[in-house]
Formats: sequence, C-alpha cells, structure tokens
Amino acid sequence: MARIGLVAHDDKKDELVAWVLANRETLAAHELWGTGTTGGRVIEGTGLSVTCLKSGPLGGDAQLGAMIAEGRLDVLIFFQDPLTALPHDVDVKALNRLATLYDTLFAINRATADAVLAAL
Ligand code: PGA
Repeated sequence: MARIGLVAHDDKKDELVAWVLANRETLAAHELWGTGTTGGRVIEGTGLSVTCLKSGPLGGDAQLGAMIAEGRLDVLIFFQDPLTALPHDVDVKALNRLATLYDTLFAINRATADAVLAAL
C-alpha cells in the first residue's frame, strides 16, 4: 500500500477529481492524503477516504512537504496550474523541491499521474 498525497490548484481541481474517479478502484487500495480543499473535493466526488490536511495556502503544502521529509509519503500527485499566479507560491516551490530532493514519485499532470499509478 502506498501513501499518496493529492493536491490540485483551483483551476485543476475538477481534473484531479475526474482522474481519481477514473482510477477509483486502484486508488482505493492505497492510503490517500490531501490538502484541505482538494481532499474534501475528492471525498465528495469519489466517496474515497482521504485524510485532509490544512488548506494548501494555510500550510497544507508545507504539511505534505514535512511528510516527504520524514519518509511518510510515497507518492505526490500535484496538478499544478501553470497559468495563474499564487500567493502561496513559496509553499508550492518548497513542496516541489522536497519531492525532488527525496526522489518521490511525483506527478504534476494527468499523463504523468497515469504513468505513476501504472508503476505502483
Ligand atoms: P487546497 O490547496 O487543496 O486547500 O486548495 C491546494 C493548493 O496548494 O493550492
């Protein structure tokens, strides 16, 4: 069982929920974590169980980064919006950096998320 973090920026949340729904059976076998709003949307849209952290801008991205640093997260699925400036960009950068540093399986879009899930 993998510990999977789920995050999506606002314009990408529908896409992430659709991706989780399309992979519901596979993902049900894993332990799911999410930033607050994303996690809530995934629960609502798929019925899967997700442990929700704080909302991303309020520290949820940092919490996922801490989980990675402490070896408590195996996979990060983070659908990022390349078209919108975010006030919590420093947190997003820190999470990207930690996922890179710790060689975490890390998907930033649907195509890569499919490949990561196939590799699990
Ligand atoms: P959210 O956070 O799921 O609470 O919206 C995601 C983000 O980092 O923007």
